[in-house]
Amino acid sequence: MIQTINPYNGQELKKYQEDNSKAIEEKLNNAQDQFEQWRLTSYEHRSQLILKVADLLRQNTDDYAIKMTREMGKPIAQSRSELEKCAWLCEYYAANAESHLKNEYVDTDHFKSYVSYEPLGVVLAVMPWNYPFWQVMRFIVPALMAGNVGVLKHASSVMGSAVLMEDIFIDAGFPKGCFTNLVIGSKAVENIIKNPIVKAVTLTGSKPAGSAVAGTAGSEIKKTVLELGGNNALVVFKDADIEQSVETCVAARYQNTGQSCIAGKRLLLHEDIADVFMERFKTAVKDLKVGDPENDETYIGVMSREDLAEELEDLMNKSIEMGATLELGGKRDKAFFEPTILTGVTKDMPVFKEETFGPLMAVTTFKNEDEAVELVNDSEFGLGVSLFTQDVEKVEKLVSRFDDGAVFVNAKVASHPALPFGGTGISGYGRELSHFGIREFCNIKTVVID
Ligand code: NAP
Repeated sequence: MIQTINPYNGQELKKYQEDNSKAIEEKLNNAQDQFEQWRLTSYEHRSQLILKVADLLRQNTDDYAIKMTREMGKPIAQSRSELEKCAWLCEYYAANAESHLKNEYVDTDHFKSYVSYEPLGVVLAVMPWNYPFWQVMRFIVPALMAGNVGVLKHASSVMGSAVLMEDIFIDAGFPKGCFTNLVIGSKAVENIIKNPIVKAVTLTGSKPAGSAVAGTAGSEIKKTVLELGGNNALVVFKDADIEQSVETCVAARYQNTGQSCIAGKRLLLHEDIADVFMERFKTAVKDLKVGDPENDETYIGVMSREDLAEELEDLMNKSIEMGATLELGGKRDKAFFEPTILTGVTKDMPVFKEETFGPLMAVTTFKNEDEAVELVNDSEFGLGVSLFTQDVEKVEKLVSRFDDGAVFVNAKVASHPALPFGGTGISGYGRELSHFGIREFCNIKTVVID
């Protein structure tokens, strides 16, 4: 039995009977049968249905938003924004998938040679709870546009959102089997990956989950895309626009109550501006509206599970024991964690080395550019980095020195349907979104005609 709980009040939302092995087999067979039909459909037809999904997301925003908010504590205004972003994603791929996947003719000594992008078949997605709609949509929308079909194993804590998403695709006119929700816990995943019907797997989540899933897929010679955690740095150089960078850094860390892989978790301040920056940053964080996630004004809700809030508290306490200063916040009550700032953080502290998946900022200072680059790269993760400066030309010269999958200047790292998204190191491999993402689950077929 899978149980969903509202983390704000601890009340049970619903219990879901798990699919048994027979039900899973039937769903996979149905997905495979549907793939044989779906791969033959035109881009025009696929686009029409995807645009219908976008319509439904916009027409029913309030109903869908409350589901996410109750299941994982996301403030309701942020749930609505997530749905709007999903609709934008649908529109992007409806308009661009065909051009992303058109044949590429190559000049060779053959009469004719080209590359054709063709679907792989049934793709399994193992997804996390932090953006219950977005994480799934950024997989399934390009997958369907490419002619694949998808089966979903969503995080157990947001099973209601998963059921709802499957219904949305059916209501939009997708045949049953194009997008199938599996009501399963993580233990059932291994056998599903081993099923010959499943051709590839994408996972967004933690390193242990990614390692387990990629290990099984690797032993079966099946492709994986992994989007794991991040420990992004926000680097504020001494010539930064302080007001603008404070505002961006607050959003980069505290949106989604800090539970985002691309959140800026390590704030690196040039020592000359550290005091003035911190004064304003602290005031801005103090002003964040904390409260009931269902209230329109709330910016900081609760964390999605009490055990994750406890883990964050543990990282914080160990770092304080090692000499970090608790500048603001630090209190926890069940799944609620106060917006928190730790200063005097050094490279050896847990809040610097590990991913803090909640509303806690770790602040460190640096003396010069070289030290800033070294601190940013001193991480096993490699998802993204934000640089704040008014000398864009100077900082562009630094871009190639960062190991991350993304460098954003004067902006927080954020996904955009037209830009590739993914990391290096233990942040994972492969890319989602843009033409790179849609091609991940394609057979890149070489065609030669003489
Ligand atoms: P998680 O355990 O990695 O869960 C993500 C998904 O993987 C869920 O669907 C989960 O299913 C499944 N899963 C977990 N272990 C698995 C296994 N051994 N085999 C197959 N599937 C497995 O993440 P979490 O516990 O929700 O959060 C823990 C940490 O993960 C966070 O603190 C954060 O560091 C990281 N995280 C990163 C992101 C991101 O966007 N990069 C998102 C969420 C979490 P169940 O829910 O049924 O266990």
